[in-house]
Amino acid sequence: MIDAKTLTRNWNYPTSVRFGPGRIAELPAVCRELGIKRPLLVTDPGLRKLPMIESALASLRKGGLGDAVFSDIRANPVGRNVDDGVAFYKAGKCDGIIAFGGGSALDVGKTIALMAGQTRPLWDFEDRDDWYTRVNVAGMARTIAVPTTAGTGSEVGRASVILDEVTHIKKIIFHPKMLPTVVISDPELTIGLPSRITAATGMDALAHCLEAYCAPGFHPLADGIALEGMRLVRNWLPVAVKDGKNIAARAHMLAAASMGATAFQKGLGAIHSLSHPVGAIYNSHHGETNGVVMPYVLVFNRPAIEERLTRLARYLGLANPGFQAVLDWVLALRKEIGIPDTLADRRRCGRCSSRPSAAICPDGPVETTPTLAIWIGMRFSAVSSGP
Ligand SMILES: [Zn+2]
Repeated sequence: MIDAKTLTRNWNYPTSVRFGPGRIAELPAVCRELGIKRPLLVTDPGLRKLPMIESALASLRKGGLGDAVFSDIRANPVGRNVDDGVAFYKAGKCDGIIAFGGGSALDVGKTIALMAGQTRPLWDFEDRDDWYTRVNVAGMARTIAVPTTAGTGSEVGRASVILDEVTHIKKIIFHPKMLPTVVISDPELTIGLPSRITAATGMDALAHCLEAYCAPGFHPLADGIALEGMRLVRNWLPVAVKDGKNIAARAHMLAAASMGATAFQKGLGAIHSLSHPVGAIYNSHHGETNGVVMPYVLVFNRPAIEERLTRLARYLGLANPGFQAVLDWVLALRKEIGIPDTLADRRRCGRCSSRPSAAICPDGPVETTPTLAIWIGMRFSAVSSGP
């Protein structure tokens, strides 16, 4: 049994992270340290009803910091959610953001902070060329991030993913200073996550580590972080799914999620290039979609990643280390935690709102070409138990 105290640390990489069970109690003190007097807490409508948000608001009230809260956001947040949040922020004369929740709330919170003092529209800050230089940095609000899922890692990321409702394309909004100033990583906040969401978000953390590790380019820092992140996922994700109250499993998964997002500064790949358009069209869960496409993308990329995956297999301690060992592990993990084999098997399938061809777009560091999408699509329909 791991002592909770050994899971408590302050890290200063990649930003100031206060990690450990119960550390949400430090929220009012962190606001004061950053000089925030009237924070806007941004969360999602589901979390808004939970005691953890009420208790955070109560602690802010007690600390004389008000209790402004904005929760009108969608699971796959859209541009309008950000615009509404900015209007709310300005009307409440707020001076800082507490982004509190899963990926959607964190992304919207970070983007409201970005947009608080800008005159240009949101889409002018899409992650293209040097568009981030258009940002008036002095107009950005400070952000405290409080993750409540262990997957997205958005709490340590410099970007957000927002859906453009007009084009049905998920766009990445980027600025280096979107990295939250302080992160409160309290694994107790993830205790109540249902097993299905634990599994899906955990697969997102794995996808970030795996894609960063496989991305081409010289970046030994990212590679090292990604390798250890995958080891944590291997050891702890099945435990967190089966026993949600296991604080050691929750803590290690929360760390793995932050490690994935730290590592993917190096790059992502076809898993995300596919899951973003699929999520944009079907409103599917991002992490679950990543888990569905993961083995297919590994097989597609095999010639380019064989040697790297052999090293990964050795690090993970898999028998007969090689590409096949990693693929077998991913397939077994998916099965163990209940990730479906195909998109058609997904339990929650939204209504198709646009033609799929309209969403195949170069929205990640690795371009998703129609050829790859068709190749993967054929296997979705042809394979029922993995490639
Ligand atoms: Zn992701």
